[in-house]
Amino acid sequence: MKFDLHVHTTYSDGIFNPMEVVDLAVTKGLDGIAITDHDTIRGVEIAINKSKEYNNFYIIPGIEFGCVCNNEEVHILGYFMDLDNIDLVYITNKLQSSRTDRAKSIINRLKELDIIIDYDDVKKLASNNNIGRPHIARTMIEKGYVKDIKEAFDRYLDRGKPAYVDRYHLTIKNTIELIHKSNGISVLAHPGLLKDKTIVDYCIDNGIDGIECYHSNHTNEDEKYFRQLAKEANLIITGGSDFHGDRGVLGDISVNLDNIPRMKERINNE
Ligand code: AMP
Ligand code: ZN
Ligand code: FE
Ligand code: FE
Repeated sequence: MKFDLHVHTTYSDGIFNPMEVVDLAVTKGLDGIAITDHDTIRGVEIAINKSKEYNNFYIIPGIEFGCVCNNEEVHILGYFMDLDNIDLVYITNKLQSSRTDRAKSIINRLKELDIIIDYDDVKKLASNNNIGRPHIARTMIEKGYVKDIKEAFDRYLDRGKPAYVDRYHLTIKNTIELIHKSNGISVLAHPGLLKDKTIVDYCIDNGIDGIECYHSNHTNEDEKYFRQLAKEANLIITGGSDFHGDRGVLGDISVNLDNIPRMKERINNE
């Protein structure tokens, strides 16, 4: 069963809403996808309802938490959490409001750098109110300040760059605990992109369940290295495109869920 396990929607910084993403995934011949928006689960239910229009197309409830460790951004994926878990709902709400506050601070920083963008324009792009830096980057492109998202991050928005502002986030340890407490499976996202590879061992020591070995930005060497590591540590091997609509191609990276029994058995219980 072919699944893309890393997909964003308009509930974070994806371009397509959950219903559009489901339609697209079906046309790509996928058997299912995991909706993994940044720090929120609000898009999942909509995708599940939409998937019922099709026979045998599955939605895995997911999330991608943004953590910080050793001054580096680390993304942890969660799958199959109980969506009504009170801790999960409380913390994701708190993360979302910290994103709003941060966006306003970033816009103020940009103003000091003579880059004038309007909070309302950013908010319009973040149609479900979960603002990420890509929404700010897209507004900067619209206003002609940068040519693409990469330039916006490289010059202004990345950690350590002049318009960077920190926000509330969980530690890796607390993130894995939260996913487990809400009955979910935790996976380290795109480890190939980490500068400090000791973070992978840190995640394993803190009970991570799997490693995202296949990802749009991974090299063949990354794939091989992390598959070997996952096998040795007896962890789940996952993969996904990290589809955003303007980055990643839906279904281009996928996994066969038959090879991941811990996940396969969960979809039949949904
Ligand atoms: P945020 O939710 O504000 O932390 O932003 C995270 C999103 O920004 C992720 O979806 C990344 O794909 C994107 N992102 C992070 N760093 C970069 C970068 N250097 N260039 C382009 N996109 C990036
Ligand atoms: Zn994103
Ligand atoms: Fe990520
Ligand atoms: Fe992602």
